[in-house]
Amino acid sequence: MNKQGHSALALLAGSATSVAALTASPMSTTLEVIGFAGVICAASIMGGLAPDLDHKTSTASQKIQLSSGKRKLMRALSGIFLFIGFVLILLGYSIQAGAIWIGAGIMAGCLARLRTIILIASGTLMLMGYFVYDWHWVALFTGIALLIMPFVKHRWIIHSPEFAIVLSLGLFIFGSQYSGWVMASCLGFIAGWWSHLFGDIFGNDGIRSLFVPKFKIALRLFDNGGAAERMISKLCHLLSIVIWGIYGFVL
Ligand SMILES: [Zn+2]
Repeated sequence: MNKQGHSALALLAGSATSVAALTASPMSTTLEVIGFAGVICAASIMGGLAPDLDHKTSTASQKIQLSSGKRKLMRALSGIFLFIGFVLILLGYSIQAGAIWIGAGIMAGCLARLRTIILIASGTLMLMGYFVYDWHWVALFTGIALLIMPFVKHRWIIHSPEFAIVLSLGLFIFGSQYSGWVMASCLGFIAGWWSHLFGDIFGNDGIRSLFVPKFKIALRLFDNGGAAERMISKLCHLLSIVIWGIYGFVL
């Protein structure tokens, strides 16, 4: 499933979660309801796209890296800059000038690998939060996940149901320490994450268990981004409207 299908499914999951949460603890004003549902649905769409950060060119990954053409350009520039830098130093022209060219080469190389650097930096921040500031263990878990994200195969650890279970438990326990918005964000993210796995089940690759790799669910119902996915997206949007209609008129 591509971005369109995943975000539509996530919106549906977010809507259902919002209505369930609002039914369990009703809010007094319409503005509060809209704000609460907005936070859950936004978190849900984020959760619905986040698992594909393990894919180099997914929508989620494209948000944190340069376009493929610019990445190629940066890689080429990085090689050229480094070459000039080393030539300047090794041929004894100027160490300072060489160092500047090498610095520029490293910078261009970093820009070419922005996604890897952002994922590793966010992971490191999470680990610092856990070890230095005593954050919740879900910070340790997501920190490790972010650190390994650039190096693991697409649809492997990050897409496994085992990962989803630990992540959901962690976020739920963390969220339940706080009321309101934090819990709403956690619930939305969890709903979106599972909607993503649910969406991937329909495709050819499916999802597989981490510990029992033979346990794989792939319904092979449609190709990524095909007409069937567009239809399912529309159906999800329609169902979301129906859910909100029922909430508005009946509850
Ligand atoms: Zn996926």
